[in-house]
Amino acid sequence: MKSDIELIDANGKRLDGRTNDQLRDVKIEAGVLHRADGSCYLEWGGNKVVVAVYGPREAIPRHTQDPLRAIVNARYNMAAFSVDDRKRPGPDRRSREISKVISEALEKVVLIDLYPRAAIDVNIEILDAEAGTRCAGLTAAGVALADAGIPMKDIPVGCAAGKIGAETKDGKVSGGHVVLDLGKEEDNFGDADLPIAISPRTDEILLLQMDGHLTVEEFNKAMELAMKGCHDVSKLQKDALINKYAADVEEVE
Ligand code: UDP
Repeated sequence: MKSDIELIDANGKRLDGRTNDQLRDVKIEAGVLHRADGSCYLEWGGNKVVVAVYGPREAIPRHTQDPLRAIVNARYNMAAFSVDDRKRPGPDRRSREISKVISEALEKVVLIDLYPRAAIDVNIEILDAEAGTRCAGLTAAGVALADAGIPMKDIPVGCAAGKIGAETKDGKVSGGHVVLDLGKEEDNFGDADLPIAISPRTDEILLLQMDGHLTVEEFNKAMELAMKGCHDVSKLQKDALINKYAADVEEVE
């Protein structure tokens, strides 16, 4: 999209001062809700997300049951107050799409064969949205599933990369810069966004979407950056779980 904002300067500094391969600040806390089987609170830049996991439990209504495996129901919801223009409450096309792709990504790592006829509910609530909420939501869901003790092959993690600055202030088209983890203005006025989710142990791709246009070289560069971002955030997920369980052990002792 064209904009009057210069998203990246001649020195490669972005609007918020980040370099092209720098993530926004990420903070993760596991086990924040007492009534959920597993939960997570995550801040990623200006995004604030809480995830509650329930299950595995018998899938109801019964026609939703799969006799061979569990179903993972991720429900992504943006709070009405999470965006600048109040969002109409309830599901819309976008939140249904995000719920579907996150459910499919999580089903690739959860050992669903262990729980025939069961459902695992993953409620993702976006309290504050500032671009990259699907990756933030999926990352928090990975921690909440682990916190619930649900067996998984790996803790899934998401991160995006994208392209900004192809169109400069005076309307000239320059090459554009491939950057990690788009911020809000970069998402709104940038040229492409490539959110991915992976299983960091194997680098298996669990989710890959793309908005905008990238050349093959730009795509490869964006994938490389997003993969690196995923691995960095994966460490923070593990730290959050270790912190929670270390605190639990201390309490017992
Ligand atoms: N957004 C908004 N209103 C909406 C949907 C999105 O203001 O109804 C904003 C929000 O900040 C979101 C960003 O647009 O994070 C980018 O949305 P996108 O659909 O690209 O998904 P995301 O990057 O959050 O995964």
